[in-house]
Amino acid sequence: MCGIVGYIGARRAEDVLLDGLRRLEYRGYDSAGVATMQGEAIHVVKMPGKVVHLTEALARTPAPGSIGIAHTRWATHGEPNQTNAHPHLDCRGDLAIVHNGIIENYDRLKIGLIERGHAFRSETDTEVVAHLIEEYAMKLPFEEAFLAALRDVVGTFGIAVVSRREPRKLYAARRGSPLVVGIGQNGEYFLGSDPAALIAYTRDVVYLGDDEAVSLSDTGMETFSFDRTRITKTRESITWTIDEIERGRFPHFMLKEIHEQPAVIVNATRGRLDADAGLAKLGGLKDVEARLRGIERLSIVSCGTAYLAGMVGEYMLEEYAEIPTETELGSEFRYRKPILDPAVEAVIAVSQSGETADTIGAMREAKEKGVLALGIVNAVGSTIARDTDAGVYVHAGPEIAVASTKAFTGQMIVFSLLTMLLGRQRRMSQATGSRIAHELLALPAKVERILAQSDRIKALAKKYIHAQSMLILGRKYNAPVAYEGALKIKELAYIHAEGYAAGELKHGPIALLEPSFPVLAIATQDSVYEKMKSNLEEAKARRAPLIVLTNEGNEELVRIADDLIYVPRTIEMLSPILNVIPLQLFAYHLAVARGLDPDKPRNLAKSVTVE
Ligand code: GLU
Repeated sequence: MCGIVGYIGARRAEDVLLDGLRRLEYRGYDSAGVATMQGEAIHVVKMPGKVVHLTEALARTPAPGSIGIAHTRWATHGEPNQTNAHPHLDCRGDLAIVHNGIIENYDRLKIGLIERGHAFRSETDTEVVAHLIEEYAMKLPFEEAFLAALRDVVGTFGIAVVSRREPRKLYAARRGSPLVVGIGQNGEYFLGSDPAALIAYTRDVVYLGDDEAVSLSDTGMETFSFDRTRITKTRESITWTIDEIERGRFPHFMLKEIHEQPAVIVNATRGRLDADAGLAKLGGLKDVEARLRGIERLSIVSCGTAYLAGMVGEYMLEEYAEIPTETELGSEFRYRKPILDPAVEAVIAVSQSGETADTIGAMREAKEKGVLALGIVNAVGSTIARDTDAGVYVHAGPEIAVASTKAFTGQMIVFSLLTMLLGRQRRMSQATGSRIAHELLALPAKVERILAQSDRIKALAKKYIHAQSMLILGRKYNAPVAYEGALKIKELAYIHAEGYAAGELKHGPIALLEPSFPVLAIATQDSVYEKMKSNLEEAKARRAPLIVLTNEGNEELVRIADDLIYVPRTIEMLSPILNVIPLQLFAYHLAVARGLDPDKPRNLAKSVTVE
């Protein structure tokens, strides 16, 4: 998920690698390292924290040679510390490897490798690949060993390897995690997980496709499939600027992250579903599974957008796992007197960064009372990830825009997996579990259909650019989505927006409605759709402009709505995951149309580490 750089040529590899790592810094990472080769010696230097720390370490202990690989890590398996930083070596230090992505079957492979005598140093999934190549290389030429190992691996990877067996060769391969080769002037080659890493040296590139490998040497470059069939690739020329590359051609990180959501759903569910058996497997909860069977009450503690993901989680857990659940703001939970029973209760702390001070405070309060503390966190090795008894990582990748989008989606996905796990431990049938799992797997393609409407939503946002206030309505599962939509509009477009459970309209806020007060209502066809229609009528009667979000093919709201947004159908429990996306796009386009920077809203910080 983070950054890879590679080099072979006549320059000092260390300089090129460090420069590439610095250009990948915008992606956010937790540690960095390089491995260079001079003759048959491999030099590895790695450090937790920023690239400057690595630069300082290299100033003390240089990494000589003109071939090497480098990495910025965004931990998925194992805390961000020096040992877990890449590159990783095999037992004998014959090869060094860097990896982006997740090796899903690493635990099974690791058990076998340990049985056969391999000694592991790190907790990463990546190190498994180093030992696997080592094992094959005992009986095969290095290139074949590299490919054989890749064939054994399940998951996503961008990988680069150097080996003492072939000291002037750099191997790389990808499946699902990008890699690009840069062709330099005098027979030199650059490798990057992102063209930003190499654009300072060359604009002449070859993009590796999925299931393709490459070998780079002083005499040339060869591309082939994992079964060693040669592949002819076409060279391309990069015409973008560095700035454009960083944002992947999107004008803002926020829009990029909104568009990453199909991949986020794939990553958050990867390896965690047995769809036909209707089961969710959450490795991070394995150790507490028995204790979870005895849980009779849940409290979800979180702040901001994560709080709203928790509210969606509450609806899921109560309906399908049949566990009474309360969602509470971290800042409130810790200062009131929560009455918790350690024998039957658990607390779930939800946070993108894992460093949210209010949520940490609430989690510690719960732990103090002996209650089982679970985490749903995006940043691996963060305080909440470390201090909870067990947890589930969101695997949404680094989120750079201050306002959360993809982490929110990832958190709701994790809640649906947790609901399946706890539900199946209780009364949920296989058929229901299976239905949810199959619907989860169908979500990414449905999200794509919504993203394709970005330009329509942009035109819609422009229409409401001068609104002073807005009301966002939803019911049941989509009440929290309405709150989230309002939060996004507030934080990005600086328009006063209130999210309301639509049934409450008549108990107060309806007094605000008039022709200059737009209402955006979520009216997808679920168990409360008929009720929602009545609420739409109530708003319409006060002549408020009505934007309605409903399902594709539903024509019956054309009469009442001023504007319609259509989303694909899914089961009610998962509908928030689709319905929030048009709201994210709406808030984003509204902010841009108002001349604001959606990536850095005023007065806000990405990770709120103060109370
Ligand atoms: N899964 C690997 C790890 O946790 C790679 C993470 C990354 O993509 O940076 O070390």
